[in-house]
Amino acid sequence: TTHLVWFRADLRVNDNLALAAACRRPEARVIGLFIATPQQWREHHLAPRQAAWIQAHLHSLQLSLAERGIPLTVLDVDDFAASVDALENFCDEHNVDALFYNYQYELNERQRDAAVEKRLGDTLVCQGFDDYVLLAPGSVTTGNHEMYKVFTPFSRAFIKRLHEGLPECVNAPAVRQSGPLPTPAPFKPFDYPQTEPDADLFPPGEAAALNRLRQFCRQSLADYDKKRDYPAIDGTSRVSPWLAIGVLSPRQCLHRLLREHPDALSGGTGAVWLNELIWREFYLHVLAYWPALCRYKPFIPWTDRVQWNNDEAQFIAWCEGKTGYPIVDAAMRQMNTTGWMHNRLRMIVGSFLVKDLLIDWRRGERYFMSQLVDGMLAANNGGWQWVASTGHDAAPWFRIFNPTTQGERFDPQGDFVRQWLPELKDIPGKAVHQPWLWAQKQGVTIDYPHPIVEHKQARVATLAAYEAARKQ
Ligand code: FAD
Repeated sequence: TTHLVWFRADLRVNDNLALAAACRRPEARVIGLFIATPQQWREHHLAPRQAAWIQAHLHSLQLSLAERGIPLTVLDVDDFAASVDALENFCDEHNVDALFYNYQYELNERQRDAAVEKRLGDTLVCQGFDDYVLLAPGSVTTGNHEMYKVFTPFSRAFIKRLHEGLPECVNAPAVRQSGPLPTPAPFKPFDYPQTEPDADLFPPGEAAALNRLRQFCRQSLADYDKKRDYPAIDGTSRVSPWLAIGVLSPRQCLHRLLREHPDALSGGTGAVWLNELIWREFYLHVLAYWPALCRYKPFIPWTDRVQWNNDEAQFIAWCEGKTGYPIVDAAMRQMNTTGWMHNRLRMIVGSFLVKDLLIDWRRGERYFMSQLVDGMLAANNGGWQWVASTGHDAAPWFRIFNPTTQGERFDPQGDFVRQWLPELKDIPGKAVHQPWLWAQKQGVTIDYPHPIVEHKQARVATLAAYEAARKQ
């Protein structure tokens, strides 16, 4: 018998539920397939950095699988529809008896998988697994079997479920009876633009991901709750790029956390980081439950009536980090340069785009996807709807961040701003958050834009626009 593992967002050999299931019978021939879909990626605004990240990990996955006697084929087609055809042909050619894959929860991906099961389900066994999550979407619900609309009760119910039983990790498969394969020839690069992520920040490979996770859990996790909001400090795990494409699994994160800090599940050290992993789950569960979120729909319908001010010049200033608000600009340049942005800053720049510039949150969501190495629809959409007050946030829509005081509070010495805005490097301490005020006092000129909007006025205009939409 031949078992095919169709790899998608699970580019690893350790703790891969589909791969482990395909390898369970020792006599089965196991083969792997990955299908790149550049046209689909264009429609999903996949970042060239994430495309390069995927490609690098496919190379290492191909090697790790070959060592275990499993060949990995990489195909390049247009879109998901074409991937269904390619998969069918591949199964025919290789006499596949059973297909194994890990579920994806986005709408287009689910429609693709439904098409596959319809097309192939009569001729071969198709088995899907909830591998990208700790608990399957739909398994953590209210007493009425509905999905939670806000995070806190979801998180409580989620932790209760974890107390009842932890999702276990599965081992990487052993070498197949046929023995290891020769080193595979490299496959041709995808037909998609690629930008290499910074290898110091994000060294590719499963081993590098596990190292970073282990190092973070041992050395930094105990201080996470104190340091996680300060972007000048390396206080968060930075494992999101590996999690996004499945080089690392959330189960590996959970078990590593509990090994180092066994009380995390009961509210002890590590509980705050566990809470972040549960935010990731929340947004995935939400997306699976309300597929309209994948169709550019806000969760709160009235917010779709907000009259956005789609000022192109202001949008470009935001993208390029030239708004005249140093914390916003430094953050955008961090993302444009590295493909990653600190969570506190994602909230600040998101709020600035939507609530200071009154620009449609979906434009920000799209721009983030086009830049982030950790871009992931569920978390990105969830994060954007949170900052825009169109989603699952329990806070009221009229809460608006002040970008200057946010900068002063979370970058109190101005170190983060000076790191990313060399034009402000001579401005000392927190004065860097109001560079024009400092320049005026010093009687000097600086090579930095004036604020493109005045926060107080912008705030008033935004409140009016939201209020008008709500009353309509
Ligand atoms: P840590 O603080 O170490 O957290 C550990 C892990 O928990 C993260 O790797 C991530 O998988 C998960 N996590 C943490 N915070 C959140 C959160 N608020 N929502 C969902 N998951 C979370 N995260 C992405 O992975 N991809 C995105 O495309 C993405 N877009 C975002 C857009 C906006 C506007 C906002 C506000 C947040 C977004 N996030 C996104 C969530 C969060 O900013 C990142 O997950 C986090 O900054 C990654 O850094 P880390 O690995 O050091 O996180």
